[in-house]
Amino acid sequence: MIMTTISNNLNRSLKLLLLEDSLSDKELMVEQLSEAGFKLDITHAENKISFIDSLKNSTYDIIVSDFKLPGFDAFGALEICNNICPDVPFICVSGSIGEETAIRLLKEGAFDYVLKDRPERLPHAIKRALDEVKENFALRKAERELLESENRFRQVAETAQEWIWEVDTNGLYTYSSPVINMLLGYTPEEVVGKRYFYDFFATDVKENLKKSAFEFFQKGKLFRNHETKNIHKNGHVVILSTSGSPIFNNQGNLIGYRGVDEDITDKKKSEDALKKSEEKFRNLFFNHAAVKLIIDPDTGKIIEANEAAASFYGWKIDILQNMNIIQLNALEPKETNNEMQNAIHQKKNYFEFKHRKADNTLVDVEIFSSMIKIGDKEYLHSIVHDISEKKTVEERLKLLNRAVESSSLAIQITDADGNVIYTNPFFTTISGYSFEEIFGKNLRLLKSGNQSNSFYKELWDTILSGKDWNGEIQNKRKNGELYWVRSSISPIINKDGKITNFVAINEDITEKKKMIEDLMVAKDRAEEMNRVKSFFFANMSHELRTPFVGIMGYTEFLQSEIHNLEHQEMLKGIMVASKRMLGTLENILNLTKIEFDGLDLNRKPCKLKDIFDRLELEYQIQISNKKLNFIINNYDEKLVFFCDDSILTEVLSKLLSNAIKYTEKGTIEICSELEVKENEKILVIKVIDTGIGIPANKQSIIFDEFRQVSEGTARNFQGSGLGLSIVQKELKQLGGTISVESEENKGSTFIIRLPIEICEE
Ligand code: ADP
Repeated sequence: MIMTTISNNLNRSLKLLLLEDSLSDKELMVEQLSEAGFKLDITHAENKISFIDSLKNSTYDIIVSDFKLPGFDAFGALEICNNICPDVPFICVSGSIGEETAIRLLKEGAFDYVLKDRPERLPHAIKRALDEVKENFALRKAERELLESENRFRQVAETAQEWIWEVDTNGLYTYSSPVINMLLGYTPEEVVGKRYFYDFFATDVKENLKKSAFEFFQKGKLFRNHETKNIHKNGHVVILSTSGSPIFNNQGNLIGYRGVDEDITDKKKSEDALKKSEEKFRNLFFNHAAVKLIIDPDTGKIIEANEAAASFYGWKIDILQNMNIIQLNALEPKETNNEMQNAIHQKKNYFEFKHRKADNTLVDVEIFSSMIKIGDKEYLHSIVHDISEKKTVEERLKLLNRAVESSSLAIQITDADGNVIYTNPFFTTISGYSFEEIFGKNLRLLKSGNQSNSFYKELWDTILSGKDWNGEIQNKRKNGELYWVRSSISPIINKDGKITNFVAINEDITEKKKMIEDLMVAKDRAEEMNRVKSFFFANMSHELRTPFVGIMGYTEFLQSEIHNLEHQEMLKGIMVASKRMLGTLENILNLTKIEFDGLDLNRKPCKLKDIFDRLELEYQIQISNKKLNFIINNYDEKLVFFCDDSILTEVLSKLLSNAIKYTEKGTIEICSELEVKENEKILVIKVIDTGIGIPANKQSIIFDEFRQVSEGTARNFQGSGLGLSIVQKELKQLGGTISVESEENKGSTFIIRLPIEICEE
């Protein structure tokens, strides 16, 4: 029964190395084993050499050895087995060997021994050995694996770049890989059992780090990549990144921590440097005063926008960063895309656009674009300048330039020494010098030589004192002709108060000057003619008046002597014609006197009422003869003022006589009022009639000498046309004016306005 079990357990043939020099013993053992149910795969060795060979060439489940062999024994065989295959059970089969030898054999590693006289024990011994092998195999495998893993760990720990360590719950190092020497300058011997993890921390962070580390310890939690500042044995700072996990014993109690430290000092430094440089460039972008955008040229999307851009466009940065450049550009999307393509292909890096702000206003911007690479992709880095003001100034300058260039005034700009730096085209027109010819030259070149040095000195003194000079200068053209300009020269003064330039604006007045000269000559001639005329009239009227006085005197005499009615009528005719002729002569004489000498005014207090009374007396009969009403109306009877009353009476008398002359029915009215304006008192006298009136187009000519409403063949009324002209001139001498308001066939109103000084009684 047992034998069956033994064979079952193996499941295959038992690989047996049998060291036996006796063939009969061998067969006996084979028999025993076969009977016990073992399927056998026997290798038979008879001596040491064949034994060693067999061991080297194959593996075995069990080795059975005779104790005594020629020149060899079980101890020798056991030693060989211990060396080559220590795990294969070694069973010694012997005659009586004594207890001592047997114990020695077992001590040296034999699994069992079987006495030859009890061969039936052999299968049991083998079975026991096999069972034990099986049991030990798992155990040894685990031990081996443990050892291997420990070795592996040790190897890793000792060759790894990272420092591997273990601490107990107090933080005392219980293991340290040798890398600590490289990292912190200590040997593991200086650390293990002697130092705590916090001993390496830099003083400024020590307490905090220690506290937080122990907090972790208490929680028994795993931690990763804790950065700590440590001090190397030689004093320099080492930044370590520590990761650790708790170690628990079989009861689940925390017994320490195990972890790795990586020296990240250099990494930190380069990270810091990178961070700083990145920060520097971020600052350069984000906090730059210029408006900056980073645009994806493929889509037009704004990837980044800085603060200045946000405040310029009026959108928040995050909104701006989700917008497309097409939304900002007033151009058609297609054109914007074209321009972006131009920028990508480096054809252009300067653009001028109109951009739309958040408040929908359009601004002129100039854009400088360059391609930058972020990762593998290229972007447009664009700097945007607001040039609306520049544009306005440019437009203004263009306008100014156009105005100056097309001006019909000659404009010259010089430096502070009078050397030309600019002339406009009209300067060339009047001077004959092109800009190229005059540029850099002194304006002295234009001097005519006809104006004195003191003239030029006064000019320079004025402009050098910072004032404008205005005057007329005679200049010489390139072809030698002289010309006159009215010049205005202004100094340009910089912010330091220094004169930097002069601007001269010249009007060509050559023609004008010639015209004025001609006019002056003409005026002199006209005045001379007038004087001759007046002189002529004065002489002639005198010459004519004298004989008329004679004619009238003799006619009066004849009227008293001759009583024949027919002759009386003739004499009356002579008298009327003579009076009329004399009246005309009087007028001419008055007019020429006024023009020639002026009137001798005799100002004295005169009462308006007296003047009006005299006029009423003089014209009463004529008015009643024509059956007209006469009203002297509405005036201040007490008014006394300074005036030459004979001239004023003469003026009113003429107006009254015209009113009677040109009125057939109705009323003649004189009225007066006093107009007070500020300090001035104006006596207004109106002579109003209901006569034939004066057509509107004639109202302005009736005050001219010899002009009448009906002239030439259409003339209806007698008269010389001098009356109103004399009235106007006399009033002028008194300081007054005359005007007329009239409507044809309705009547006329002549209005005298005379400033007066009132006599206080
Ligand atoms: P004359 O000797 O012709 O009256 P005046 O100089 O006195 O010369 O007047 C010029 C002209 O003005 C007159 O010829 C007449 O045509 C017109 N005129 C003057 N006074 C009146 C008036 N009161 N009514 C209508 N026409 C008048």
